[in-house]
Amino acid sequence: MSSPVATAAPRAPLRALDEALQDLLARAEPALPVHSVPTFEADGRVLAQDLRSPLDVPGHDNSSMDGYALRRSDLDAGQPLPVSQRIAAGSNGTGLAPGTLARIFTGAPVPPGADAIVMQEDAAVLDDGRVEIKTQPVAGQWIRRRGEDVARGAVVLRRGQRLSPAELGLAASIGFDRLPVSRRVRVALLSTGDELVMPGEVAPEALPPGAIYNSNRFFLRTLLARLGCEVSDLGIVPDHRQATLEALAQAAQGHDLILTSGGVSVGEEDHIKPAVQALGELQLWQIAIKPGKPFAYGRVNHAQGFAHFIGLPGNPVSSFVTFLLLVRPFLLRLQGAPGSWPQPLMLPAHFSWPKADKRREFLRVRRNAQGGLDLFENQSSGVLTSVVWADGLLDNPAGRTIAQGDLVAFIPLADLQ
Ligand code: AMP
Ligand code: MG
Repeated sequence: MSSPVATAAPRAPLRALDEALQDLLARAEPALPVHSVPTFEADGRVLAQDLRSPLDVPGHDNSSMDGYALRRSDLDAGQPLPVSQRIAAGSNGTGLAPGTLARIFTGAPVPPGADAIVMQEDAAVLDDGRVEIKTQPVAGQWIRRRGEDVARGAVVLRRGQRLSPAELGLAASIGFDRLPVSRRVRVALLSTGDELVMPGEVAPEALPPGAIYNSNRFFLRTLLARLGCEVSDLGIVPDHRQATLEALAQAAQGHDLILTSGGVSVGEEDHIKPAVQALGELQLWQIAIKPGKPFAYGRVNHAQGFAHFIGLPGNPVSSFVTFLLLVRPFLLRLQGAPGSWPQPLMLPAHFSWPKADKRREFLRVRRNAQGGLDLFENQSSGVLTSVVWADGLLDNPAGRTIAQGDLVAFIPLADLQ
């Protein structure tokens, strides 16, 4: 379902966040082209094909201890046994001669005929070189079985999986030195607002009245980079119709997404909205969340197609939170990942929130040493210190109050960046 174009309307209907997310994800199809990258460079990328294992891992039954490989029935006589071979990791033994032991090391193949490993701490080497076994080994002990990690032919990683260090190790363990991944998302980043000044360009004591530093540009660029995007930071767009049209038309070239912050509040006088409309299409969504109500999705056409357009609210916390909740899933979906949110944890609130809101709230909270959640005192959408203090967002349903000890849904910020 898509809502009607509503730039001229004074008030667009509030949309549920889940619905807005589904709508946005549906627009992220089709996914980006696929290419192959070295496995070493694939951290954070999204796998474009299922990875099927061409081999068993481990490739042979092997010892998980330094010790002795033996045939348990050879211990029945209660006599020390001679060592008939020595098998180190990387070498291959031969069939275990009856009545003997094999000296074996961690990772070395278990010789045919052996049915248990005894660790060296449970054995004693006698003066004549024979070995006395001081325990009663159970069948198969300290043997890692062929294929117990990965069976040949099994799909070990699925298309759409976002790769992290553990996945890279697993891919390498089945022989992949390169991986098929979706190409990086190319994003053009623009800030709007004539009040914005760049830190470094004007000293704090010289800031004119009404001017503020452009903070959104810093976290948005960084969040995009962490998601593996190629970012073209096109700076601050001047508040002129022609300049805005030109900036957007240029941004559409060679980019998958144009991301802006500011200027999407309903009824505000700004140039982004009419410019996007003139160059493509625009939908203004008032999303029923706090912080972060205004949000715009659109498309900016160019000769070869179009670039997606997403307009985030200007208030820094709103901008930050809507990026995490909506833009991040969108970027992941463009690369072929599901784009679903991380699983929230249910934790007890160590505070009360007596005033319910009509909108679903994402409160800035922090885990304490008792395993509960503390609340940042100022939840205003302009207060960036709240996001720095917090280590997660409390997802509070619309109309819900919170009493001390209530179990609430907590989403760690670390899982959203
Ligand atoms: P807007 O969404 O443009 O109405 O902006 C809402 C509020 O966010 C205003 O107080 C703006 O000054 C502020 N704001 C907009 N863009 C930025 C930015 N890039 N960095 C910091 N604050 C901003
Ligand atoms: Mg503005």
